[in-house]
Amino acid sequence: MRAVLDTQIEFLKVVGPQRAALLQKELGLFTYRDLLQHYPFRYEDKSTFYTIRQLNEGMPNVQVKGYLRLFEMVGEGSKKRLVGHFKDETGEMELVWFKGIQWVLKKYQPGIEYIAFGKPNRFGTKVSMAHPELDVNSSKSKPNALEPVYPLTEKLKAKYIDSKTILSWQREALIQCYPSFEDFLPQDIRAQFGLIERKEAFRHIHFPQSAEWLQKAKFRLKFEELFLIQLKLLTQKLIRLEKFKGFVCSDTQLLHTFYNEHLPFELTNAQKRVIKEAYTDMKSGKQMNRLIQGDVGSGKTMVAFICILLAIGNGSQAALMAPTEILADQHLKGLLPLAEALGISIALLTGSTKTKERRKIHEGLVSGELKLIIGTHALLEDTVQFKQLGLAVIDEQHRFGVAQRAQLWKKNEQIPPHILVMTATPIPRTLAMTIYGDLEISVIDELPAGRKPIQTVHRYESSRLKVFQFLREEIEKGRQVYIVYPLIEESEKMDLKDLMDGYESISRAFPSVPLSIVHGKMKAEDKEFEMRRFVKGETKIMVATTVIEVGINVPNASIMLIENAERFGLSQLHQLRGRVGRGAEQSYCILMSSYKLSKDSRVRIETMVSTNDGFQVANTDMQLRGPGDLMGTQQSGIIDLRMADLVQDGKILEIARQAAQHVLDEDPHLTEARYLPLQNILKAMRGNQINWSRVS
Ligand code: ADP
Ligand code: MG
Repeated sequence: MRAVLDTQIEFLKVVGPQRAALLQKELGLFTYRDLLQHYPFRYEDKSTFYTIRQLNEGMPNVQVKGYLRLFEMVGEGSKKRLVGHFKDETGEMELVWFKGIQWVLKKYQPGIEYIAFGKPNRFGTKVSMAHPELDVNSSKSKPNALEPVYPLTEKLKAKYIDSKTILSWQREALIQCYPSFEDFLPQDIRAQFGLIERKEAFRHIHFPQSAEWLQKAKFRLKFEELFLIQLKLLTQKLIRLEKFKGFVCSDTQLLHTFYNEHLPFELTNAQKRVIKEAYTDMKSGKQMNRLIQGDVGSGKTMVAFICILLAIGNGSQAALMAPTEILADQHLKGLLPLAEALGISIALLTGSTKTKERRKIHEGLVSGELKLIIGTHALLEDTVQFKQLGLAVIDEQHRFGVAQRAQLWKKNEQIPPHILVMTATPIPRTLAMTIYGDLEISVIDELPAGRKPIQTVHRYESSRLKVFQFLREEIEKGRQVYIVYPLIEESEKMDLKDLMDGYESISRAFPSVPLSIVHGKMKAEDKEFEMRRFVKGETKIMVATTVIEVGINVPNASIMLIENAERFGLSQLHQLRGRVGRGAEQSYCILMSSYKLSKDSRVRIETMVSTNDGFQVANTDMQLRGPGDLMGTQQSGIIDLRMADLVQDGKILEIARQAAQHVLDEDPHLTEARYLPLQNILKAMRGNQINWSRVS
């Protein structure tokens, strides 16, 4: 069967070499399989007929049975057009063509009964349809009730290749492949999950016998797409677990000392649960690969520190990597007293660490004397070697790539370190299961007690005086304020000017209040200096761009004012908001915007105002942007799906993952005869990505 599906499209007689070349170039279709997997993106419902009198402006595409009376050329120059007078028992309408006139004249004859299909326009009593499809109304050519519409390109259309043409090719390809079409999903799995056979799915996706069959076909094809990805991810995980030992961290003495004597607060239940989950991994003898998702302020750092203690308490070292120097520094500051109380040696390694200090750190890590290293990307350098790295924590994982995660693995030759990645950008579960499908996932879904929910409001420019007055009052009460301006690559200069203008007007509005300013164009040390002043409380207002987005912790800051909020993405807004609400005081997030808002900006702002829940924010974000954009180009390839949609098909994904798990539980290496076809497909898949052309 491989042979038939693998046949080049040019051998499909109805297509021929010339058009095959075009299909290749325009749509990337090479084989029968490619063609069959060129799925319709929607279907025209042709189950109902309308009469001309019923037609109205604003209707979707509809079909009408009638006689083509005559053709007529009307208009001059660019207004020149072909009009076909089309009549049924209720009236008459004009079919209009501006292009392809010769072709239309050749193809359709007046005096014949046709079914016209198109979008009706009504002008007074006059009804027309531009560029309708016409079908001869004979019982033989009775159209499908649901007619597929295929993705096409302008070049193809120019060659008169339309959805009907593609459909006729699909018919031929299907006829040839159908008899030998195999199914890689065994019968019992199909039965268990209510899946139709693969060949039936292909048949009904192109030629749906009914809406119900179409549904079944879609379900099957979505399922298999998601299933294969999950099978791949779970297999990777299995292989990793089999292959990689993990440092056994079963001694909890150090952890208990800390817990009983030094823990500065009671852990939340969610923190406790996640620590237990990590502990189970870390003592298992297998390598841990765990993602901790927790909303901003949910206390991920403490969870990480306790895992670090577990690693160190069992004789190994630990590393904590953050995306920025400021953040790494803050981690150091926060953890230093705790580490000192426990007699744990700790150091900071960043790009700006002086050579002498750096050398000392390198030595300490190699000798094993230095137990905990906190740093930035600098930790990834090859010169950084460990005696025994037991655990690597990556904070704000979304700022790093998958490759960097892998780099940390290599820090230990024998046993790779346990890996804990943390992210405060909650992503919808469906997406997490795909992007991080090879990781275990823990969720901290609870904020420390006593936090007052942040109040978020939306204000227009006209309320600026009031807003500033409010800031003044809060500052008088001793609080600190962030004022954030957008800074987007393309318009950097403009934005910088906005920021500086903003800074000017803020210094005028708050003449006696000490201000800090931080933006991406400043030298690192100047940035540091300004940040520090704010952290220490010397300055009361921090005017900044989104450089402060990640991680910064100033519990005394209680107001986040975001200028031009309409220009920020939803997850960015949420991250920024997470900078406040960290202390005991009531905190506020004020979103300033202009009056003119696009529909999406409005939804973003409304979402921010209505919820503090990061997961809800993430779901809306995914609906607005689609999963690809959400993860950035770097990772979007993974979720380049043909049929399934991570926004809509979360349920199917859950089932598909279950099914994949079920298969692997039964036969981890897919060596049973019935799973061999699956094994072959997995081999053909590269990375997380499926090379669909090889999927049979
Ligand atoms: P994030 O998850 O955003 O990284 P952090 O780890 O920075 O959050 O924690 C935010 C703040 O909450 C810190 O000041 C931290 O000390 C504090 N914190 C963490 N866990 C708790 C807790 N269980 N009870 C009270 N405060 C906590
Ligand atoms: Mg953090």
